[in-house]
Amino acid sequence: MAWTRMLPSGKYQGIYRDRRNEERSAGTFTQRAEALRKAAKLEEEQRGPLALDVKGGKITWGAWFEQWIDARVLAYSTEDCYRSTAGNHVMPQWENVKLEDITTLDVSKWVRKMLRPPKRSKVKPKSPWVVRNALMLFKTSLNAAVDDKRLALNPAKKVEYPDLPDGLERYLTPDEAEAIAFYMDGLNSLILWVGVQTGLRFGEVAGLHWKRLDLKRGVIRVVEKFDQKEGVMNPSPKDKEDRTVPLPPDLVGQLRRYAEHAAPGRQMSCGIRHTAGRCDSDLVFRGPRGAVLRSNEWGRGPWKRALDLAGIEDRVRPHDMRHTYASWLIQEGVPLPEIARVMGHSDEEVTRRYAHLSDAGFDTVRDALTRHRGLVVAEPEPDPVPLGLEERLAALEAQVAALSGRTAAHTASSPKTALSDASSTSVEQAS
Ligand SMILES: [Zn+2]
Repeated sequence: MAWTRMLPSGKYQGIYRDRRNEERSAGTFTQRAEALRKAAKLEEEQRGPLALDVKGGKITWGAWFEQWIDARVLAYSTEDCYRSTAGNHVMPQWENVKLEDITTLDVSKWVRKMLRPPKRSKVKPKSPWVVRNALMLFKTSLNAAVDDKRLALNPAKKVEYPDLPDGLERYLTPDEAEAIAFYMDGLNSLILWVGVQTGLRFGEVAGLHWKRLDLKRGVIRVVEKFDQKEGVMNPSPKDKEDRTVPLPPDLVGQLRRYAEHAAPGRQMSCGIRHTAGRCDSDLVFRGPRGAVLRSNEWGRGPWKRALDLAGIEDRVRPHDMRHTYASWLIQEGVPLPEIARVMGHSDEEVTRRYAHLSDAGFDTVRDALTRHRGLVVAEPEPDPVPLGLEERLAALEAQVAALSGRTAAHTASSPKTALSDASSTSVEQAS
């Protein structure tokens, strides 16, 4: 409650208590009523429901983060995750900045700098997933500061999250897959290579039986899928026919060596109930103590550990091995219907999800536009000739055939198609 005090000069001083209950002056006035009105107004401003804690905004973000995280009840893993995001991405910029000094413009600049660091700084750009997590954490912490009356508004509120490329899906590059495999033990790295080189769903990897593996032919027949919720083997896919997936030669080699150690056929069944069909062999892969693999356990265990060691900070899930498979095939020009077939998807589904990764057919469109204007279509650079003598001859023959073919019919077969066909066959034979 505000009050007044008469000063020796005969004037009135308005007095009130602030948020910390300290007496404060509202100024001196000739009229007592005026002094009282002013003091009451200031008191309302500083103690009312909308009032700010004036000193609260002077805390640094780093100190606030500690208070905020300590006050929250979080799962240990979540807290670890927050702390590592804060330590790696937020602290470097904001640790010593007072909350009241944080501006929207500076937050925008920070986000931009993470995504596109200045060229001279030689800092690597952070991935949009990392930036997104960092900004999310920062915004949440500042929302809490608003709730705590340290800030009137959240300065980061209007700053937009970066776009995530390729929708929400994340693909591993071959280098990343190598790095992850490097930090896994033998069995788990084999599971990884099966994942990224067959595109099997994790439940299909877990439900893979030795009888479905034909290493002579170099194929897997995908028939069963482990349902980790129900703990049963379901047919996979549910309503469609089973599918056959080819194995690249290096994976056949790895699986053959593994089969020697794992001695398939020791057990005549997997011991899990099959909801359709009969079980006639053991599982190819099992987790600790012989348990059937579960994607969440595997994702938290060997997968996460290897990702951490490899320094991959994005949220990549075991399921992304399947997306990785599709993206590798598409980038090598495998036609969408063929990808749909080996993945057990419909054509439309594959087109919807992965077509944006493919440049196939773009050259035809480019050539058509150029030709229609009467311009000369540029000759594509021939691909590097493979090393083997036989392959080199085959490539040359293909080139000659394509060249003579083109004089007859301009579009029948471009040298690029002929050449890349020849070289891709040779790569397959070589590896
Ligand atoms: Zn079985």
